[in-house]
Amino acid sequence: MNQPRHNIGQELPVIRQLDDAAANRIAAGEVIERPASAIKELVENAIDADATRIEVDYAGGGKTLIRVTDDGYGIAADQLSLALSRHATSKIDGSDLLNIHTFGFRGEALPSMGAVGRLTITSRARGADAAAMISVSGGETAPVRPAALAKGTVVELRDLFHATPARLKFLRTDRSESMAIADVIKRLAMAEPYVGFTLRDVSDGGQGRVVFRADPCSGDLFDALHARLRSILGKEFAENSVLIDAEREGHTLTGYASLPTYSRGASVAQYMFVNGRPVRDKLLLGALRGAYSDFLSRDRHPAVALFIECEPERVDVNVHPAKAEVRFRDPGLVRGLLVSGLRHALAGAGHRASTTVADATLGAFCPQSTPHAPVYQMDRPSQRAIHAANQFQQPGFGEAVVGYSGRVEQPVGVSDIELGAEEASLTEANPLGAARAQVHENYIIAQTQDGIVIVDQHAAHERLVYEQLKSQMAENTVRAQALLIPEIIELSPSDHALLSTSIEELSRFGLVIEDFGGTAVAVRETPAILGEINATKMVQDILDELTDLSQTQTVKDKLEEILSRVACHGSIRSGRIMRGEEMNALLRQMEATPHSGQCNHGRPTYVELKLADIERLFGRT
Ligand code: ADP
Ligand code: MG
Repeated sequence: MNQPRHNIGQELPVIRQLDDAAANRIAAGEVIERPASAIKELVENAIDADATRIEVDYAGGGKTLIRVTDDGYGIAADQLSLALSRHATSKIDGSDLLNIHTFGFRGEALPSMGAVGRLTITSRARGADAAAMISVSGGETAPVRPAALAKGTVVELRDLFHATPARLKFLRTDRSESMAIADVIKRLAMAEPYVGFTLRDVSDGGQGRVVFRADPCSGDLFDALHARLRSILGKEFAENSVLIDAEREGHTLTGYASLPTYSRGASVAQYMFVNGRPVRDKLLLGALRGAYSDFLSRDRHPAVALFIECEPERVDVNVHPAKAEVRFRDPGLVRGLLVSGLRHALAGAGHRASTTVADATLGAFCPQSTPHAPVYQMDRPSQRAIHAANQFQQPGFGEAVVGYSGRVEQPVGVSDIELGAEEASLTEANPLGAARAQVHENYIIAQTQDGIVIVDQHAAHERLVYEQLKSQMAENTVRAQALLIPEIIELSPSDHALLSTSIEELSRFGLVIEDFGGTAVAVRETPAILGEINATKMVQDILDELTDLSQTQTVKDKLEEILSRVACHGSIRSGRIMRGEEMNALLRQMEATPHSGQCNHGRPTYVELKLADIERLFGRT
C-alpha cells in the first residue's frame, strides 16, 4: 500500500524542464519497445525514402546490432543532425495531421534510438558527390564526418537499451526477439510488394544467415501482391485464397483471404493494413471474425492479407505511438465493408474446397508415405449396411432439402445406380459428377468427367440444412412443424432466464417454445426442415451456444451460430444408407448452394481427386 503523501515541513516540489536526452528516453519508452520496433521504424524510413531494396542485418536478436541499408534518396550532410533531433521531420509541416501519406511523421524514431542505444547514420543524398555520417550514443551527438557510401542510407543501432538496463531486462530470448523481427519484416514486405527485402542474422560475425528474402515483384498490383504473399505465406495460402476487391463509399478493401477449408488453429496469419500501414486493430479483427463466423468454428482462424485504403482524412493514425492502431471516422462502414466484401468473395468461390484437402488425401495414399501402396477397392455394402438399411425408418428425414423420401427399401450397391450411359455422362458433366456408390454408410463416391469426388454426406447435408434455414429465415418462410405432444423441459433457473431472452428470435426459425410454469418450458413446434429431432437435446445445445456467445456479438451473428448448431440436428448422420437418386440429388443440391464446399465447422464436405492424380498414385504417369 502507498505511504501517506503529506510531505509536511519539507520543501515544495520544483518544476523543471527535462533536458532533451531525458525527453528522448521517455519517448523511446513508447516508440522503441524492443528490437523489432526499432527495425520497423528504420525500414519504414527507408520505404518513405523511396527505397527499392532494403537489407536488414541483426545480431543477438537485435539487442547487440541492428543495421538497415537502403537505396533511397538519402539525407543531405547538413540535415543529419536535424534528423536526430526530436520532432524534426521532412514528412509533414505540422499544419495538417489528418493528411499523412508517409509511414513516419512524428520525428521521434531516430532521436529515441539515439537516446537508448549507439546510433550511426551514414547517408549519401541523391545528387550529392559524397556521403557523410553522424553518430550519437546515450544522447551525446558527435559532429558530422565525411564517409564512404555510393548510394542511399545505412542506419546502424548497436547495444539497444544499454543505457536503460531496466528495459533490457524485459526483452525476451534472442530467439523470440528474432521471431518478432521476422514478423515485422514480413508485414512490411506484404505492404510493399515492389520493394525487395533481405533479412539476415549476422550473430556469427560472418556473412550471416538469410532468414527471409523477397525479391521485388512486378506486374499489376494484384499479381505483385499474389507473388509476394506466396513467398511469405507459402504456396498453400496462394492456392487456397480468394482475391478480395470491394469498395464502399470511398473505402476500398483489397487483398487475399483463405478459403474456410484452409484455416489455422490460431490467428497467426492475419495481416491487415490501413493505407499501407500494418495494424493490429480490434475493430478489424472483430469484423474478420464476423465475416467468417458462418464458415468456421470459433477455434479455427482464417489466413488473410487485407488492405483497406481510404482518404487519409477518414482515418486517424495518430492514436498509438507505434501506430499499430487506427481510428476510423466511420467504423460501422469499415466493418460492413469487411464483412460483406469477404462474404461476397467467399460465396463466389462457391463449393470450391481447398486443394490442401486433395493434397492431404493424396499424401495419405501416396506410395512414398506408406511402404506398401494400399489396394483401393470400392466397398460392397456390408452386412452391417444391409442391416442398417432394413432398420431405417425415419419418415420425413431431410425431405425439404434434397427432396427424397428418406425411406430405403434396398441396400445400395453399385448396380443400383447404373443409369443409361447417356444420362450418366450428362450427370458427370456436373462439377460434383454422378454418384456411383456409397461406402462405409457415409461417403458418396461420384465420378466426374476427369476424376472422382468423395463426399462426406453428413457434413454436406449439415451445410445444406444450414444454408436452407438461413435463406428461409431471410425470407421469413421457415416452416414449423407442430409436435403432437409438446416436449416439456425442466431447466435450471439461470438457463431458463437465458432462454427466455431468446424465445422470440428462436420462433423466427421455427422453434416455438413457451413457458410451462416455474423454470420449465414446452417445445411446441420445431423447424420442419429438420424432420424428427430430439427437441430436448437441441434446446440444450442452443443454451450452450447462448452461454458461449459474447454479449457484444450482433443479434445476426448470434442467430447464425445458433442456426449452425440447429442444422447439426437435422443432418443425415453417418450410417444412413442412400439410394442413387438421393445421392445425385444431394450432389446437385450442393452445387446449387453457396459455401457447400465446407461444413459449418470449416471442414471440407468433399474432396476431389483428378484422374491425373489417381494415375500418379499408380505410377501411370
Ligand atoms: P519521421 O520518420 O517520423 O519523420 P524519424 O526520426 O524516423 O522521423 O526520421 C527523421 C527524418 O530523417 C525523416 O523525416 C527523414 O527526413 C530522415 N530520414 C530518416 N531515415 C531516412 C532514410 N533511410 N532515408 C532518407 N531519409 C531518412
Ligand atoms: Mg520514421
